[in-house]
Amino acid sequence: MPLDPYVSCPCGSGKKSKWCCAPYFETVEKAFQQEDQGQHESALQTIKGLLTAHDKNPSVWFYYAQFLYKAAAAEFDAAARSPAARRPAGPNDPPPGYTQKFEQAEEALSKALELNPQFGMAYFLRGQFRENEGELIGSLLLYRKAAEAYDAEAHDQIAAVCVKIYENESMLNRPVAARAALERAAHIQSGAPEIKAQLDSEFGPEGPFPLSARKKYQFRPTAKPVPESAATGKLSDARKAFENLTQITPDDPAAWFDLGLVLAWIGEQPKAVAALVESIELETDDYRAEEAGALAEVLRCGFGMENDSDHMGHAVVMPIRDPQPVMRLLGAYEQAGKLRGVHVDQERGMMFGLLVEELPSLLAVGTVNLARVAARVMIGQGVIRLSHPNRDSVMRAADEIRTALQLAVEQPAESTNPLNFRDVVLEALAQPAGAGDEAALEAKLRGHATNYFENLWLHKPLKALSGNNALDAVGSKVLRKHVFGVVKFLEDCLATALPHKRVGEEVVPIQVYDFAALRHKLGLEYVSAAPPVVNVPADAPDEKKQEKAEDIRGFTPPARQEAPAPKNREIGALNTAELAALDVAALSVGELEQALLAAVKLDARELAVAFAQAGLLKPFDAATPDRYRLYATAITGAAATGDTARAAELIDQGAKYDADHNSGQRETEYKLRKAQLYVKAKDAEKAAAEFEGLVAMHPDEGKFYTTAAEEMLRMKNGAKALHFAEAGLETARRTNNRDLEGHCSELAAAARKAT
Ligand SMILES: [Zn+2]
Repeated sequence: MPLDPYVSCPCGSGKKSKWCCAPYFETVEKAFQQEDQGQHESALQTIKGLLTAHDKNPSVWFYYAQFLYKAAAAEFDAAARSPAARRPAGPNDPPPGYTQKFEQAEEALSKALELNPQFGMAYFLRGQFRENEGELIGSLLLYRKAAEAYDAEAHDQIAAVCVKIYENESMLNRPVAARAALERAAHIQSGAPEIKAQLDSEFGPEGPFPLSARKKYQFRPTAKPVPESAATGKLSDARKAFENLTQITPDDPAAWFDLGLVLAWIGEQPKAVAALVESIELETDDYRAEEAGALAEVLRCGFGMENDSDHMGHAVVMPIRDPQPVMRLLGAYEQAGKLRGVHVDQERGMMFGLLVEELPSLLAVGTVNLARVAARVMIGQGVIRLSHPNRDSVMRAADEIRTALQLAVEQPAESTNPLNFRDVVLEALAQPAGAGDEAALEAKLRGHATNYFENLWLHKPLKALSGNNALDAVGSKVLRKHVFGVVKFLEDCLATALPHKRVGEEVVPIQVYDFAALRHKLGLEYVSAAPPVVNVPADAPDEKKQEKAEDIRGFTPPARQEAPAPKNREIGALNTAELAALDVAALSVGELEQALLAAVKLDARELAVAFAQAGLLKPFDAATPDRYRLYATAITGAAATGDTARAAELIDQGAKYDADHNSGQRETEYKLRKAQLYVKAKDAEKAAAEFEGLVAMHPDEGKFYTTAAEEMLRMKNGAKALHFAEAGLETARRTNNRDLEGHCSELAAAARKAT
């Protein structure tokens, strides 16, 4: 194909090819033609000749790399088909079809990048190498580098790499980044209808994603305007601008939101979530907090956020040894109504279905009953794969199948994966069983969803709410702002996962739950307060632009007014409603402690826990280095909900904080707390170990021996009680402590009886 001298050059320089690669493009074409015709040697000679004449030209090195990779791939395919490939390889043999040309292609690319570090096309090609090797993350990083390096005029190349970024981000369950890349491709190639169509089908109203994952997010106006120089179209420039802005106006929620958005588009999920959390906590408008919070939830579902997400997919894969019993079992399941919605993908040789929990009432005839999805099932590629957002559920299903199939399947392998958005509310959606009238069915579906959201979900500790459940979180001024987004995300997910019914000619969704009821239960009423007060430093650069922007927006950001902090004595006098109305963001650590004590006095336990949690989130405050009281309350709160793991985690955090900032003065208290936590959890072994640590720290302190012995007796562990009582006796005699001796003697006698 002759090269049009006036199109932008295929090397991605952004120049017209006439002024770029035209002089040697003919030779490059010739080499590729010779290669295609099987004249491998001549082809190599042709391109090497070009290289000798232009060895300082990065584009020529790039074409050389492209040529080598193509030749290597052809050799690889040929070798894979050859009889030699079927012989078993020795341990030190290179893989069949291995060719040095792959390495040479890499080297040629390195050379091209050495000559021109901003060579977008070279990054793009290297990204394709990685993608062909199945290295998704590595290739994505290279594609992003390419997108940044290309000249703004290299439209075709930018669009092509953006489509690649879109594909990779989609596979990583990161629709916000995927959409941004596809938007950019559509924008640059406004004449390409297939990109536009893809954009509509993926992210339009009919697309597969919940609203908060597919919508087009917009920047929010910031208190201090963003320099125009940031609008280069390159995400890295926008990122720098907003990072800078959040430094200058750290209390502007809009600046944090915009930064979070740019980071989400770049695919930097953890940093994006952190910026959005900042924005939410500074926000005074619940609707804006809700939008930011729902976006953060979407990002938490992406690859790489597994430790921060409340929405995870749990999967179990069992390789199939003998397909016959597997098919028989599935047939039996289907007959019994346990396997539903089976469909077969002939092309890929896969079968999909839903495994539902068998209910005794399934046997009843003519009534409507419900079943619960126990796991999604996929069979294909020689394996059974089960998945579900609830780990217990998928493990139970796997156990049952394995018990039924015995040796027909291999040992199951478990994994966690990003969760498909359609499954976020899977547990709220029941499956109808049996036939009956539609009104009764819908009522039951609604009942199931209502029970899930209002009786189960409400009490679930959530990572997005710092380990609190939604019910407790609304009691904290800061956490309450996070609840809006968490609920909105669920609402969006449910809307895309609803079952459907036929009404006349139309198919309409069955509305199984109205989230207004959940918001009402939580007492979530939207408050749109005045814009937050943002301190824009007078000496900040761009002051002139700042004034102009103020004219346009019609208001002058007022100087920061410190929220009048109530005096400690005043906090102590507040009633429950007044305490609940305190702005925890404006309170110091010491004031939060006062509020906590006031709440405890009023028996407002949840409020006290909320103050404690808010206090723990504050940065170090030299005025109150001792945070034991805050931690103790938070620990009690966690233990009261039965969350022993969280309580233990808080104890460890508290002890570490104390060691770092309070010279470890509370070490004993934390150890005692931990021992008591294990007593409460009825774990005598662990409790005894903690008491051992305590008496080792304070060998002369009698009360630790007696406490330990008493607690062991309460747990009916006579042997351990006796151990502590006798150690106490020894101490009493050594220190000549009569009281302790008497007490320990009694305890020892009781312990002997208990053994
Ligand atoms: Zn060129």
